[in-house]
Amino acid sequence: MLDWVFPPFCCGCGQIGEEICPACWESIRLLSGQLTCVTCGKLIERGSLCPNCQTDPPTYDQLKSWALYEGAVRSMVTGIKFERKLGLIPYLVKPITSAISTWEPKVDWITAVPLGRRRQHERGYNQSALIAEKVAAKLKIPYSNELLIRVRETHSQVGLNADERRQNMVNAFTADPAFCRGKAVLLIDDIATTGATLNACAKALHAAEAEKIFCFTVARTDHHPISNPIFTEVSNERQS
Ligand SMILES: [Zn+2]
Ligand SMILES: [Zn+2]
Repeated sequence: MLDWVFPPFCCGCGQIGEEICPACWESIRLLSGQLTCVTCGKLIERGSLCPNCQTDPPTYDQLKSWALYEGAVRSMVTGIKFERKLGLIPYLVKPITSAISTWEPKVDWITAVPLGRRRQHERGYNQSALIAEKVAAKLKIPYSNELLIRVRETHSQVGLNADERRQNMVNAFTADPAFCRGKAVLLIDDIATTGATLNACAKALHAAEAEKIFCFTVARTDHHPISNPIFTEVSNERQS
């Protein structure tokens, strides 16, 4: 009924009719089928591990993402996060569920990267948790928002380099061994840039004796040298 009175318009091109139109949906570049680092999921040009994972491997076992953070995906992620376009969530839940079932990590729990209390209060919802909860239900894997907690607010990661991002996240999270001990956890977030936030979460889960830590994000920023403008654009946006 509301759709008839106020028809939705595409978050990508503005066309009236759907939250995202078929043409914008078709334009999405998926990460599956691209050459990515087996550990951190970053686009690479050759081999199986990116240089970072060779010299300084992350605490998590594997990170994968659904699509590149550009165009329609960027409009969807920022629309959900900053403009309350929650009608976009169902569009993401289906392909993310199927990407995770194809990947098939054996996990006991699904959780989402938590927001700090202040940000959660301001926004009224945690966009990653809304997605993770629905994906978990479809996959029939238990979901909990209690196993990982953000113990302090962090500064925006915008404009920070990889080291600064890592520094900013030190001791930002804590995890509950009652949930984690000996368990495999899949952590879901909306976007991965350097993976610093996910790795900080992974460190907390590891400290709480989680056995395996897998991460999945809706979007991944592209560090590929040819597409650097995309990364620059991301840096100018609000994040987290
Ligand atoms: Zn469109
Ligand atoms: Zn890597």
